[in-house]
Amino acid sequence: MSMLTAVQPQLLSQINERSVLRLLQTNGPCSRAEMTRQIGATAPTVSKAVASLLRSGLLEEFDAAETGRGRPARRLRLATKTAQVLGLVIDAGTCRIVSACLDGRLHATSGITFRTPDSYDKLLSQVCDYAAALRERAGVRTLGMGICMPGLIDSRTQKGLLSPNLPLTDGHSPGIDLSERLGLQTVLVHECQGLCLAERHFGDAAETDNFVILDATVGLGLGAFSGGRMQVGSGGYAGEIGHIPVVPDGLECGCGRRGCLETMASDSVFSRLLSQRLNRPCAVEDIVEQARAGEIDISEELDSVIPYLSTAVTMAINLFNPERLYVCSKLFDLGDHVLARLIEQTEARALRPSFNDCRITRARGSKPEGAVAAIIEHLTMSRVHGNEQLT
Ligand SMILES: [Zn+2]
Repeated sequence: MSMLTAVQPQLLSQINERSVLRLLQTNGPCSRAEMTRQIGATAPTVSKAVASLLRSGLLEEFDAAETGRGRPARRLRLATKTAQVLGLVIDAGTCRIVSACLDGRLHATSGITFRTPDSYDKLLSQVCDYAAALRERAGVRTLGMGICMPGLIDSRTQKGLLSPNLPLTDGHSPGIDLSERLGLQTVLVHECQGLCLAERHFGDAAETDNFVILDATVGLGLGAFSGGRMQVGSGGYAGEIGHIPVVPDGLECGCGRRGCLETMASDSVFSRLLSQRLNRPCAVEDIVEQARAGEIDISEELDSVIPYLSTAVTMAINLFNPERLYVCSKLFDLGDHVLARLIEQTEARALRPSFNDCRITRARGSKPEGAVAAIIEHLTMSRVHGNEQLT
């Protein structure tokens, strides 16, 4: 009984803070008076929540004269000038680190892309160097860093367990290690979960509680939001559609098995096939450019990759019955015909009612946006659940 009375005021103020954050996230900047009206709380309650959020650095105050006319009133917004977050994408081949406002907008000039180092220690020290460079903005507090990476990540220990395309993270917890080295709150999510958050925050998935993202860039993975919740499974390993075997005695996969779907359908597979035929290394970005200019014929490789990509889309549609399915692939840069073919082949294979329920489009959110969305969600949600950290 006494515990209940002690907990309640704290819980209430956390809920009020969350209401303020949600209002600013959905409606943009507003004054305390507008907040009071919109939230339906009393003015002192709103002022108290705002004061606490201002102290935390998540909000900042600015003069309304900047944006509107009439009597200047102090308005509030998610911090854009006084605080920032960092987003890190660890991937096979290249990594990228960015900084962003608390509303999720990436700073225009901030991104640093670097080749993925060949050891975990080098990865940590390079990230620390680049993070230090991004934290040098005068008067700007850095509140945390979101990290996206591929592979199986144990959601209980935050440890990378098995990464077919990036084995150097196996057995390591980059979220915990970087948090210690940088003295920042961090949150580590699977890259497909990051893409779901990006689509929800920056794409058009905010409108739906049932959507799936298929990432067919480096490997082949899936992120799913079902009934408004991210589906991560019991240990956090859900979504590894790329490691379902589809070709008996097929090619060896990074996971150690053979004939996985991932060995047949992704941007990497597309470059591998073309590199083999032309007998020279072909990066997917270069291929797209040359194909658009009519310099190379890539129909053979498209004929090989699209049916398998359609298999993945069909699996996702039949399994999850999503309202929207977003696909990430640089192959769509070749023109609208690539997505059209993918949809046409999927229509011929998926269960009719499930296919009819689902709109298939190109993903709009990116992995850096996903990393940023993950840390913003962590920082704002941790104000509801107390300040416990995932890392
Ligand atoms: Zn595999």
